[in-house]
Amino acid sequence: MGQKLLLKNIDVPGIRYFKTYFENGGYANAAKALKMTTDEILEEVKTSGLRGRGGAGFPTGMKWSFLAKPEGVPRHLVVNADESEPGTFKDRFLMEYIPHLLLEGILISSYCLGSNTSFIYIRGEYAWVAEILEEAIAEAKEAGWLGQNIQGSGYDLEIVVQRGGGAYICGEETALLESLEGKRGNPRLKPPFPAVKGLWGRPTVVNNVETISAVVPIIEIGGQAYSERGVGRSTGTKLISACGNINKPGVYEIDFDLSVEEFIFSEEYCGGIANGKRLKACIPGGSSVPIVPATLLLTTSDGSPRLMNYESLSEGGFQTGTMLGSGGFIVLDEDQDIVYHTYTLARFYRHESCGQCSPCREGTGWMEKILKRIHEGQGKMSDIDLLWDVQRKIEGNTICPLGDAAAWPVAAAIRHFRDEFEWHIDNPECLVRNYGLANYG
Ligand code: NAD
Ligand code: SF4
Repeated sequence: MGQKLLLKNIDVPGIRYFKTYFENGGYANAAKALKMTTDEILEEVKTSGLRGRGGAGFPTGMKWSFLAKPEGVPRHLVVNADESEPGTFKDRFLMEYIPHLLLEGILISSYCLGSNTSFIYIRGEYAWVAEILEEAIAEAKEAGWLGQNIQGSGYDLEIVVQRGGGAYICGEETALLESLEGKRGNPRLKPPFPAVKGLWGRPTVVNNVETISAVVPIIEIGGQAYSERGVGRSTGTKLISACGNINKPGVYEIDFDLSVEEFIFSEEYCGGIANGKRLKACIPGGSSVPIVPATLLLTTSDGSPRLMNYESLSEGGFQTGTMLGSGGFIVLDEDQDIVYHTYTLARFYRHESCGQCSPCREGTGWMEKILKRIHEGQGKMSDIDLLWDVQRKIEGNTICPLGDAAAWPVAAAIRHFRDEFEWHIDNPECLVRNYGLANYG
């Protein structure tokens, strides 16, 4: 592991506050950026190869270069802090412990994009984090790093923190924009993409908290040096929030050449499986990505170690691989019941579906019902094929990715753990139900 880029100062006492952040080099990169042209900053971000850290991995520089610039129309940067993906808590960590890193990233990015009013849309459940951000904004403003004529540059920026109401769907970028406009958070059809028609119809860039924070080290070390840190199209570093049956849950900044095996078993990261159990499976990118059994998790199809990066984790497609997604790394040990976990996920997606498209609205309900009856010992063998059929009809047939996100965990669970579904149907006295674990969902 080389030097950390995002978390290098995380252990400095008081780094949450402006004074300490500033004394440790904070805002020096904003000062540097304000002396650059906006084209120069864009070029650095493009050269860096930075990809969106919210889950989709779309190239950030490309997204920024798509931003429409019609004469006289304001543009906006909206930071997506609606981190609701089960298993994902790395953005909260950044905002809670080093909020000025995000603010500095917003300042540089907003200046580059020509936004004078930028937004942080934060999930309602992160109420105390919203307060931390508001305090940090007030500190930065008092020190002249936000507001009018920042540091004499002639550039003005206000940052508005907007709290969400607790709906998972408002993390989808167009639903987020609807919500920010004061409407119900229903996703919009794309195209047009927000870069052309976003907040109040204005050109808007929506980026994740970690993505915007990563702009600071890109300005610090340069796009070229950032791109050289990594493997192929996975450049820079990535925050991973690790949870589940491991000894050391937490947020880790990793290099993309780190093997999955080292991440799970080394003391530097997860510290191995808790209670001396064996690894059964993993959902490495938040609940929306396919679960992968231990046998396929640690090596790729040619037998080489699977690495913690976009390409390696998805090697083999969904037959043998999965996705890096948001980096919400959920580890399951040998005692975990795949049917039960698939059921709880299906219940979650049914609850969070906005209901606009029939395949998602009806399909998530069907999947939950079928999984519930298998879990409760009332399933039939034909239910497994029915479940497969329902998820197939959702995938690719909906307005937003929530449909796919609901279908993929079910598909992967059947693909890799069909025997467990059959076992549940043959053995209605399932241990999970008998011990009452179902109530933990
Ligand atoms: P997406 O692939 O549709 O879009 C990626 C980004 O690129 C968007 O901002 C989109 O506007 C932009 N884009 C794509 N093509 C474009 C074009 N031609 N012109 C301009 N802009 C373009 O994916 P998404 O909906 O942003 O994200 C889906 C992912 O989100 C899932 O894979 C999942 O992993 C992740 N997710 C994360 C969380 C979380 O809490 N972090 C929650 C749910 C889902
Ligand atoms: Fe709403 Fe689901 Fe359609 Fe997305 S896929 S728009 S959540 S109904």
